[in-house]
Amino acid sequence: MPFSDIPGNGRVKKILQLSLARNRVPNSLLFCGPRGIGKRKTARVLAKALNCLTLSDDACDACANCEAVNRGLENPARAFPDFIEIEAATEVIKIEQMQEVRAIAYMKPIVGRKRVFLIDEAERMNDESGNCLLKVLEEPPLWSHFVLVTDNPSRILSTIQSRCQTLAFQPVATEEIEQALRDRGFEEEKARILALLVHGNLEQALNLDWDEIQGRREETWDLFRAMVSGEEASRFLRRFAFQKKAEVKDDLEGTLELFASFCRDLVLLRDGGDPRLLLNPDYEPRMREIGGGPGFGRAMRFLDAIDTAFADLGRNLNTGLLITSLYSQVQG
Ligand SMILES: [Zn+2]
Repeated sequence: MPFSDIPGNGRVKKILQLSLARNRVPNSLLFCGPRGIGKRKTARVLAKALNCLTLSDDACDACANCEAVNRGLENPARAFPDFIEIEAATEVIKIEQMQEVRAIAYMKPIVGRKRVFLIDEAERMNDESGNCLLKVLEEPPLWSHFVLVTDNPSRILSTIQSRCQTLAFQPVATEEIEQALRDRGFEEEKARILALLVHGNLEQALNLDWDEIQGRREETWDLFRAMVSGEEASRFLRRFAFQKKAEVKDDLEGTLELFASFCRDLVLLRDGGDPRLLLNPDYEPRMREIGGGPGFGRAMRFLDAIDTAFADLGRNLNTGLLITSLYSQVQG
């Protein structure tokens, strides 16, 4: 896979390709950003590109080195010896793992030109293992590159952060996810709906099960209808009340995306727009029932409140408060 096969994050890919072309890829890189948006995939392509025998700024996927890295990704027993992926063996990345990295980093590559270490979930390093890695980052051997991948950079030692060039990955745009899904054979309507649900997480989009999604849409539609019609609206609060904290944010994001798509469809129908542009064409008859009644005004207030809620989610505000505030704005 070359860089162009990874959807989204054009800016990051461009920076990497330019530094590859100039032979100036930093020895220590920190890839940060939400889960499922291609950080690890990008690091793998970078590892190949650094060793590619044909191209200077990308992976050709055909030369001996590219093929060897690909084989290793499919079968860890045949891993390319100069590309090493480190994952937490338990909850933490242990000091022994970093001691090994340190020892290998100073040896010249065996097959390739460069040795690349991908440290996944780098926030799992504790002070001990972090400080061990820091020693190498302070004086990295010319031929070794370290790519630290994390969705939580605040948990990485500041001394390590300051040694790395940070590249911030962004969620993949909905249109790009939609296109990627279509490229993988999804029907247009399904691709559009899936892309909406995952909030920039392409990996999640590829792993979703359509039947499960349909169930989720039905459930969310019921909540939406209850909320805008004013009947049983408190179900919205109950829906999130008993979930684990860590799950609420993802769930809420997906649910709000769907709510927003229902709201936008209502506006489209109300304004006499082309029904082919509906995000949820299969809900058109049910949508028309709401659109004609007093629920429309409520739905519009809801749409405003959802925009604010997304901004608040981005700032990691308390999700419990956020849900209560959404509810009261629509009811008030
Ligand atoms: Zn190659």
